[in-house]
Formats: sequence, structure tokens, C-alpha cells
Amino acid sequence: MHRVFNFAAGPSALPIEVLKTIHEELFDWKGMGASVLEISHRSKQFTETIEETGELIKELYGINSDYEVLFVQGGGHLQFAMIPLNLQFLGRGAYAVNGVWSAKAFKEASKISQAGIAAQVEKRVPLEEELKTEGAGFLYYCSNETVNGIQYHYVPKSKCVLACDMSSDFLSKPVDVSKYGVIFAGAQKNFGPAGLTVVIVRKDLLGKCGESTPTMLDYQTYAKSLSMFNTPPVFSIYVANLVAKWIKKQGGVEEMYRRSLLKSELLYSAIDQSGGFYYNDVKKEDRSLMNVVFNLKNPELEQEFIESAKKEDLFNVKGHRIVGGMRASIYNAVSVEGTQKLADFMKRFAIEHG
Ligand code: PMP
Repeated sequence: MHRVFNFAAGPSALPIEVLKTIHEELFDWKGMGASVLEISHRSKQFTETIEETGELIKELYGINSDYEVLFVQGGGHLQFAMIPLNLQFLGRGAYAVNGVWSAKAFKEASKISQAGIAAQVEKRVPLEEELKTEGAGFLYYCSNETVNGIQYHYVPKSKCVLACDMSSDFLSKPVDVSKYGVIFAGAQKNFGPAGLTVVIVRKDLLGKCGESTPTMLDYQTYAKSLSMFNTPPVFSIYVANLVAKWIKKQGGVEEMYRRSLLKSELLYSAIDQSGGFYYNDVKKEDRSLMNVVFNLKNPELEQEFIESAKKEDLFNVKGHRIVGGMRASIYNAVSVEGTQKLADFMKRFAIEHG
């Protein structure tokens, strides 16, 4: 079996142990004589799995009983609409915009209710004192800007309810969930396959969006039905369950964080010590531990960099089409060993072409 080192931004690498379990269990899941893809979501076996997955997320983050963990479809994009729909009873949202995804969320929210800007900055996260939330009901931010490689390393203190897009750093570090009203994350980066979005919501915020809200856009619908009002993404939830168990076995979010520090340091050192051959212009303190973006001083070498990396089994290092350049995503399932290999390759490439 040939496996490459996969630095894709999402969908992205899954732990090999998880893939092996899926492979083993596919034909006969939990003694049912059928795969998880072929059984009713109302079966005892699946009901147990969806419940357990919620419990595992609660356990990994240490979430208290004030919160519900919901499983939703529609990706991060649907949450850009569901957040303002469900929170507009608090008043308008104040949006901290510092990259592609927070900008999109602000644009979508503006279609639903009157959204305001809390701060708008580039190549960094806003300073806490820059966040303007007067008159707002909730403060929205994106903890890790996947395209731009910018990550918050603090939780904004605010009188407002906090709403956060954690799509690309979910379960990658300890988080004090009690500081938040709503957190959401698409599973396809740190936590499983595409098709599943996890929403963690404080119970007192449920059921306030009004009768006119479409059923599937109301968080309360999911909270009341074990996220099974309609047919949930069964396979994605099953895989997320396996990934959650894998994270727990590795040592939990603390261990994921320790590895992220190690992996990101390997790549940022390769950039910073390249004598300008590579550069990253995100403010140093705000660099992402998940998505390491960088450019080559000579952009004409980009294609050769990508092709040469591929020859060494280092895949998917091309940056997002909107910003160009390079990006290595080093989510939970990406090994320190694979990241070291990429860092070594970068150093060699710079010497050979510098
Ligand atoms: N938020 C962030 C931080 C993301 O990285 C992405 C996707 N890359 C999204 C939202 C949108 O997610 P989806 O494609 O699942 O709608």
C-alpha cells in the first residue's frame, strides 16, 4: 500500500488507524451483517454511536452540561447563516474580519440581519482592544483563518455572547468552551470526512429564533432530536466517532496541541531560516499552528517546488487559489515525521535553487 504525506487543507488526512478500522468494519458493523452505510440511523447501534460521539467531544473539551453538541449538515457555509438566524434575538452581530472565512461569514450575516464590523484587519488577528462591540448582541470571529494562515492565540473577552468558527482548529488544542455561546466546525479538517458540521451551543440560546425560522435552520430542532430530525450524515458521524476515540487514545487535545507546536515550529523555522528564499508575512504572534502559508521569493519556482515535493511523496502544498503561494496544513492526523520530511525538503530545495 502506498500512502503519501498529505498536507491538504480539507478534506484532509485521516489517521491510518481510523482508516484501518473503517476497512475492517465495513462489511459487518457491530455484528449487524451490514455496513454502517446500509443501516437505519434509528438503529440501536447508530443511536449509540451518535450519542457517544457527542459525549466524546464533551469529554475531550471538558464541556459542562450547559451545552448541547449538535450534528448538522451544510458545512461551515450554512453556519454563516444559522448563527445570525439563531442569535439575532440578542441583537446584531459584530464581526471580526481578518481573512477569507470571517469575511464570508460577515457577508452572509448581512443578508439576514444587520451585521456590523467589530474590527477589520489583514495578515494578523485584531488586538483585543480593537474589537468594537458596542450595541452588538454577539461577537463573531474565526479562530483560524485556513486560507490566510492566521490564528487567534487568545479568546476575546467581551460582554457579548461569543460565536466562533473553529472549522480548522477544532480539537487541536484545549478550549474553555464555557466562554462561548456557539462554536461550530466542519469535520473535514481535524475531525473526519466532509458532510458533517459539529455545533456546540449553550442551551439558554436555543429556541429563541422564532416560529418563522425554517425547521432545519433552528438549532433547537437538532437539540430536541439527538440531531436526527432528518437522516443525519451517518458515515461521517461514524468516522468522527473513530477520530474522537483516536484523539483520546493519543492523549487528548493537550497532546494534539503539543504536536501542533512541534510541527508548526519545524515549518516556520524552515521559512525563517531560508535567508528570504521563503517568506510568510503574517504577524509572527498570529501565525497559524494548523495552516502554514508561505511564498517563494521567486514565484517562477513555485511549480517546480510543487512537482519536486510530489516526487518525495509530499502532496497538496499548493496555496488556496485566492491567495496563491504555498500552504501546508498540519492537522491532527498529519505526523511529526511527515512534517519533518517537508521541512527537510524545503531546506534542500532552497539550497539547490537559492
Ligand atoms: N470556515 C473555515 C475556517 C473554513 O476553513 C472553511 C472551509 N475551508 C469554511 C468555513 C467553509 O466550510 P464548508 O466548505 O464546509 O462550507
